[in-house]
Amino acid sequence: MPGQENRADLLKSEQRNAGPHACATLDDLKDMVAELASFKMALDPHTIVGITNRAGTIAYVNDHFCQISKYSRFELLGAKHSLLNSGHHPPSFFQEMWRTISTGSTWHGEVCNRAKDGSLYWVDTTIAPKLDASGSIRGYVSIRYDITQRKLGEETLLEENLRRERMEILLRDIIETIPNGVAVYDGDDRLALFNSGFQDCYRRTGPAIREGQPFQEILERAIACGEFADVSSGDDGRRNWINTRLRNHRNPGRAFLLALTGDRWLKVQERRSASGYIVGVQTDVTDLKRAERQIKLQAETDPLTGLLNRRSMIEGLDAVISSERTDRYSALVLVDLDHFKAINDTLGHGAGDVLLVEIGKRFKESVRKSDFVARLGGDEYAVLLVDIGSEANAIRIVRKMLKGLEAPVRLGRKSVNVSGSFGLAVVRSTKAGTPLEVIKRADIALYQAKRNGRSTYAVYSTDMERSIRHRNGMVEALRRAIERDEIQVALQPQLRFLDGAHSGFEALVRWKKDSEWVPAAELISLAEQSDLISAVGRSVVSATLSVMRDMKRKGRVPGKVAINVAAAQLRDLNFAKELLAAIAAHGHSGSEIVIEVTENVILDRTNEAIGVTLNRLSEAGVKIALDDFGTGYASLTHLQRYPVSYIKIDRSFVADLNRGYGNGAIVRAIISLAHDLGMEVVAEGIETQAQYQSLMEMGCDYAQGYLLAKPMLVEQIDAYFLDCEAKRPVAALVA
Ligand code: C2E
Ligand code: MG
Ligand code: MG
Repeated sequence: MPGQENRADLLKSEQRNAGPHACATLDDLKDMVAELASFKMALDPHTIVGITNRAGTIAYVNDHFCQISKYSRFELLGAKHSLLNSGHHPPSFFQEMWRTISTGSTWHGEVCNRAKDGSLYWVDTTIAPKLDASGSIRGYVSIRYDITQRKLGEETLLEENLRRERMEILLRDIIETIPNGVAVYDGDDRLALFNSGFQDCYRRTGPAIREGQPFQEILERAIACGEFADVSSGDDGRRNWINTRLRNHRNPGRAFLLALTGDRWLKVQERRSASGYIVGVQTDVTDLKRAERQIKLQAETDPLTGLLNRRSMIEGLDAVISSERTDRYSALVLVDLDHFKAINDTLGHGAGDVLLVEIGKRFKESVRKSDFVARLGGDEYAVLLVDIGSEANAIRIVRKMLKGLEAPVRLGRKSVNVSGSFGLAVVRSTKAGTPLEVIKRADIALYQAKRNGRSTYAVYSTDMERSIRHRNGMVEALRRAIERDEIQVALQPQLRFLDGAHSGFEALVRWKKDSEWVPAAELISLAEQSDLISAVGRSVVSATLSVMRDMKRKGRVPGKVAINVAAAQLRDLNFAKELLAAIAAHGHSGSEIVIEVTENVILDRTNEAIGVTLNRLSEAGVKIALDDFGTGYASLTHLQRYPVSYIKIDRSFVADLNRGYGNGAIVRAIISLAHDLGMEVVAEGIETQAQYQSLMEMGCDYAQGYLLAKPMLVEQIDAYFLDCEAKRPVAALVA
């Protein structure tokens, strides 16, 4: 067994194995070897022993030396010790060793040698110089122990550490490249790893975040610095908030949102890793949240006024209606601005927009914060008075809103007065029906308010609904009547005061529904409110022109025939063309026709189309008469804007003529001014001889009224003309 040889054996074996060089060396150093042999038994059996001379030439090796170096003794003895150099140590390592031992000191160190097969082995080495009697160095004894296993272990550890270090750097590198905040907490809930994105998430406390800090400490510091937007200021609220957050953190699962101060939002997703770490990823979703909010805002609000829109109002109504509480008493108010279109048309859409915004503001100021104020479109608003308590309270608010409209609205350098019609429907959660049904009821009330003369309000009642239903039925019937050509005209004769002779007719619309005549004024208002006015107008024109043609065929002279025309017809730019074409198609000339327009036509400065139409007709010889003069605000100066040829004094003046209310003076003034302006005057509604007489004396030009003849249907016209020829009725009356 290596290391177990006795001293004699050792010497023997070494003499046997030693080569020629070794022998010489051995001779020199044999006393050293012998001395070593005497210690042999005391040496650890694993000791590797070698002796070299002063120059490092090997003089002795024990078996262990040969075994570990894998060289035979023969190869080793006489060889330089540097044969075993592994190249692992730098030259300075050996220089230092030689410096030590050459001065007679013992050197100790860990040396990596290379065995014959190229493998490396480590030996713990002690080299002691051997001095002779004179004190000079004769050689060196080296004692070595195999520490290869330990060194390899150390190296592996070193490598492992290095690898870990590299991994950690890589890991940090990787999480640093992640744009989100990443924070990893260990089993003790201490921050083990985080990136700068995580610090960026928390703008107030981020820079102070350090590894090793417990999660709770980080959280509480962030709260103290006001990092979170939704932590309540009270102690209990704050504690609850912290507890919830800790619970979420320690049992991570679903992602959740954190509201930060400064209107920022974080999405937090925490997971527990397989090795027990809590890994949190925090994503700044502020942009997303803001975009989301913007979209929600756009979906809920009216972009012009910032009020709610129709959809939100319906949702609000729905919430009120479907409330669990049975005793809720709310009210819906629909508002329509009066004559908004005129403001838009005259002052432009920009001014119209300013007005809409201002009105929205005033409505908001009139109601509570909990109420809903919406713009439904155009000039329509809706206000939902939530839990208003009673109808009386709702009416009080509506009055307040109406009053709020009284102050003029400044639009640039102009200021305009606004008014609105208000329709109110009560909303009882128990019997309201659907939101659309509530809106319909408020709409019916609004319609009623408009009919009541605008700038007022109406409260929905079932009677109203009945009347609306009736009206809708009438509109449908009228539509059918137009399609079936059932619209007729009655002609009321007009006579000349000068000689009592027939001068013409006024054509008046007639419609028999269910064997009853519908009053012309009612029919016209129905048609105007339902867009049927142009169709009715066309029927009247065609019926009138046909009757005129029939008269002419029978050798009668119809004279000037006046046709009533509504403002809506005149706004249609095709009207003049169509009317002139129809006149021509029936074989008449423009000069035989008069169109009667009402004051609102003359006063409507917003629509250029009316002027264009009137001028075009006038150029074609058609005369224009201003109907019902004196009932509105038109003054004679207004008439100069359009080519008006006739003024028709309203029936009310004629009726009061002989009643001594000073009407006589007014009528006289009108006639005289009209003549000064080159117009002729027609008096309508003459029912008595006294009226006739007075008007004639005042110089009025034409007469119309029941006294002379009532409006007559086509079949009565022949008799009228026969009467005219036979009795000369006017002359007889005047006489
Ligand atoms: P208007 O154009 O002023 O027509 C005169 C109205 O006075 C007619 O009523 C006529 O029947 C009535 N009337 C005539 N003489 C007398 C009288 O001596 N005493 C009384 N109490 N009434 C008299 P009507 O036919 O019911 O027409 C009412 C209004 O309806 C018309 O007033 C006119 O504004 C409108 N209208 C009639 N036909 C048409 C039409 O074809 N188109 C348009 N746009 N409006 C029409
Ligand atoms: Mg008329
Ligand atoms: Mg009239």
